[in-house]
Amino acid sequence: MTAFLKIDDCKACHRALPWEWVPAILLGAKPLAGTGVWCSQLTGGLCPTCIATMETNRKKEQQALALRERVIDLLGGEKPYREFTFETFEVTPGNRLAYERSRQFSPSAENLYLWGPCGVGKTHLVYAIARHCFEETLSVTILPAGQLGRKVRMKDPVQEQAAIDEFVRAEVLVLDELGGGPDTAFSRQVLQEILDARDFHDRAGLVVTSQYSLDQLAAKMGDDRIPSRLVGMCQVVELKGKDHRLAGRPLAGGAVRDASGQAGDSAPPRGPAVG
Ligand SMILES: [Zn+2]
Repeated sequence: MTAFLKIDDCKACHRALPWEWVPAILLGAKPLAGTGVWCSQLTGGLCPTCIATMETNRKKEQQALALRERVIDLLGGEKPYREFTFETFEVTPGNRLAYERSRQFSPSAENLYLWGPCGVGKTHLVYAIARHCFEETLSVTILPAGQLGRKVRMKDPVQEQAAIDEFVRAEVLVLDELGGGPDTAFSRQVLQEILDARDFHDRAGLVVTSQYSLDQLAAKMGDDRIPSRLVGMCQVVELKGKDHRLAGRPLAGGAVRDASGQAGDSAPPRGPAVG
């Protein structure tokens, strides 16, 4: 065959690529039919570099989608996935410290205890922490504290120990609403075991939320073993503020709460209707 020069432009990067001579494949001494030809380097109008880039991008997109699914699974649904990010957190003077501690949280070195009344953003912050750590490929477990007993009970001793070990091993363990659920001797004993084991193994990455300060928690439990373990392990940060979930909702008297949770100045007086 005579040599000829044919050049194609990649339709993506517009690089000019000359056709290539693909040598014949010899079978015995004879060239295989259809081999020994000039070929374009393009496939579907694209050069090998552009095809490799597209393939890499496609894999990245697939990985991002798969990660999204796993985070939704971790957080327990689309809604927490949409809502519980650091970016959507509304910082106020009462929660600023908790927000900063949460953003800077180092799961390999710190444990965090966030407490304050309902609706000030504790769960939002710890879910954002969980999500961030999970996306950083750490193993993360979110455990509503009230379900602790249920998650471990009804199993034989070996399974029970395996369930406890999993909570001990998690690189990040979120214990949400401590003191908020049923407080049984069993769940308390399991929690004590988890905290002791994490502490003894120098495993950080525990994040706890509660409506109660550790003193209040000790009083509520009538036992200070768990609160004292937490004091020794955790940075304790209080969140203050009014329940943001009530902000903007009409009150019984027709007033609307502003962001601070106070009824607005322009609201009509509450109480028995006049006239
Ligand atoms: Zn190209």
